[in-house]
Amino acid sequence: MPTGNEVVVLLPGDGIGPEVAAEARLTLESLVPEVEIEERLIGGAAIRATGKPLPDVTLDACRAATAVLKGPVGDPEFEAADVRPEQGLLALRAALDAYANLRPAVLDNIDVLIVRELVGGLYFGASGVREDGTVYDTCEYHPRQVERIARRAFRLAQARGGRLTSVDKANVLETSRMWRRVVDELAPEYSDVQVEHMLVDNAAMQLAMAPEQFDVLVTENMFGDILSDLAAAMTGGLGLAPSASLSDGGPGIFEPVHGSAPDIAGTGAANPTAMLRSTALLLEHGLGRPDDAAALMSAIDAAIHSTPTPDLGGHASTSEFGSAVRAQLRIDDAAVAPYRDIDGSRA
Ligand code: NAD
Repeated sequence: MPTGNEVVVLLPGDGIGPEVAAEARLTLESLVPEVEIEERLIGGAAIRATGKPLPDVTLDACRAATAVLKGPVGDPEFEAADVRPEQGLLALRAALDAYANLRPAVLDNIDVLIVRELVGGLYFGASGVREDGTVYDTCEYHPRQVERIARRAFRLAQARGGRLTSVDKANVLETSRMWRRVVDELAPEYSDVQVEHMLVDNAAMQLAMAPEQFDVLVTENMFGDILSDLAAAMTGGLGLAPSASLSDGGPGIFEPVHGSAPDIAGTGAANPTAMLRSTALLLEHGLGRPDDAAALMSAIDAAIHSTPTPDLGGHASTSEFGSAVRAQLRIDDAAVAPYRDIDGSRA
């Protein structure tokens, strides 16, 4: 029984979520047995059980947790419904003020970390329909929102290659001009970081043509949404891409970038790499265990080569891939506690 005070809330989610979450759980339980893991419902599974995509009991557990490990949400059953699984995810990000979305993209000589502002901008500004039928969404940022994400990116750049690219559209947008000013005002405080500004259209082209030039890239919500998927595509696809969404002081949310993949749910074909890499980000940024995180990342890389899943051209099942990762970590699956059911009982 774990005795420490650290608690990870695991939200398996929908579709392939429970399948990849099971591998993350086995791996986490083996690597850090002293950390308690508590499972809760989110998304379509939560709507079915409670009528809400983010039940109060889930939100309370997440608020009290050290970190949150989340599987994808989304279910075709609720696609046209008023209450949808994805609303649970947006509500969770907002409730935990998880404003800093870290999206690492690593392959061969590419090693870029995209830092995306996650709770402001166009996705959260005023929107609606005017009397004449015009539809509008507005991009709004307060300088304080820009300052906190920029500071986070500067600190991450200090801990990496010391280079920061701030991406905006300052030749057109007011918010971008303010963004650029705030970054410039902060720069002297981080004199060991080399800063450059880049317009988003150029950044997309540079990312596609010469991604190895980037170290840390910081940008607003929508630009980051698009650029980070491009970076994921350049480094093996969405199935491999993890993310961390961090707040100041509160629990972070660690989750794969991909969705619930209803087309392959239940077939055992899901690649758990993105979920396991998200677990590594949790070990590093959520639990402060960089050595365990590095060991897990290397084990995943080795399993990608030795035991590829169908999306990578191989034949391994989700659980075979997970076992290969744990074998690399020298963890015997037989010695790991059996998987617990959602209510905490043992299967
Ligand atoms: P998706 O990422 O679920 O699937 C796209 C394609 O990639 C599918 O062919 C799928 O089989 C494949 N794929 C995805 N993850 C994989 C994995 N780990 N291993 C192997 N193959 C994988 O995107 P979609 O089909 O557009 O969305 C399905 C649902 O997921 C929707 O309801 C959507 O809203 C939701 N979604 C949720 C999140 C999230 O929870 N953060 C993110 C994106 C989409």
